[in-house]
Amino acid sequence: MTYVADAKRYDQMIYNYCGKSGLKVPAISLGLYRNFGSTDDFENAKNMIFTAFDLGITHFDLANNYGEPRGSAEEIFGKILVQELKGYRDELLISTKAGYDMWPGPYGDFGSRKYMLASLDQSLKRLQLDYVDIYYSHRYDPNTPLEETIGALDAAVKQGKALYVGISNYPLEKTKEAIKLFRELNTPFIVHQFQYSMFLRDGENGMFDLLEEEGIGAIVYQPLYQGLLTMKYVNGIPKTSRIAQNVDSISADQITEERIEKVKKLNVLAERRGQSVPQLAISWVLRQKAVASALIGARNPEQIVENVKSIQNLSFTEEELTEIENILE
Ligand code: NDP
Repeated sequence: MTYVADAKRYDQMIYNYCGKSGLKVPAISLGLYRNFGSTDDFENAKNMIFTAFDLGITHFDLANNYGEPRGSAEEIFGKILVQELKGYRDELLISTKAGYDMWPGPYGDFGSRKYMLASLDQSLKRLQLDYVDIYYSHRYDPNTPLEETIGALDAAVKQGKALYVGISNYPLEKTKEAIKLFRELNTPFIVHQFQYSMFLRDGENGMFDLLEEEGIGAIVYQPLYQGLLTMKYVNGIPKTSRIAQNVDSISADQITEERIEKVKKLNVLAERRGQSVPQLAISWVLRQKAVASALIGARNPEQIVENVKSIQNLSFTEEELTEIENILE
């Protein structure tokens, strides 16, 4: 049976302007970094997309290298788009990126114009799309002039292959330079995507201030620190977890006693707020003014349902914020 989106899909979700652009992004976006490759369960992948969209998640985040094998998350998402979501293209915000190792030889990695534009063409083919909504430089390349990478993103827009562009994982000084270069070219540069959570707070060292001042949105990834900011590891490592499956940059040595103690304390506070730990962790990243969206991942539709409920309680009292600081210190 063909999928029909829930008629109430826009009733609950909160949409924030991405910086000073006219583009609204859902407070929670879904990333397809894990669990959407061709070696993963296709029906589950489809159900996660449907569940997300039914809950008002309009933004789906990809990159050329997502999925196992690399590129397969774009292929799978493209298949779902064509088979089930075709009539909804204008309700969807689809992003992709290039910047990490993708194909052999000197032209399949980092930030050259050659790589950035060839990779976008490949992504569009896999996604079966004419354009993406946001195209990102996935990382700063110290060996390519910044002007070249920025110019390639600008060209992607001029060629009609991307509506907006973004950067991801750029250090503070390079972000400043990128903003200036994009302004000179008049490129619709609207977003910086980087990692931010209760367990990794680098964005607080000037990045959020800069983005706010400059009217650029932040989309922050891994707000759950890949699952550590949930109760799942409190009593050991469950079989159905990212760490047990050993598929990622996260490993068992990151589950320290100290972190588990923090999670337990956060759980007490979360319960008082009527939330679970992942809900608290997501609400907390959204308290930053510059943050337009928290970019989550999921293993199943249930996790998405649980995580989206975080928007039901986004306000924090001063006492709660202090309590969180004390727990995290
Ligand atoms: P998260 O911190 O959101 O971790 C998601 C994982 O946490 C899930 O796969 C699941 O893992 C666990 N989880 C989620 N919800 C719950 C819940 N309610 N209860 C218990 N466990 C839960 O981040 P991801 O690492 O998935 O990254 C999110 C997205 O960010 C990516 O898909 C990608 O789009 C983007 N990203 C961007 C990067 C960049 O360089 N720009 C780098 C990395 C990610 P489990 O399997 O254990 O159940």
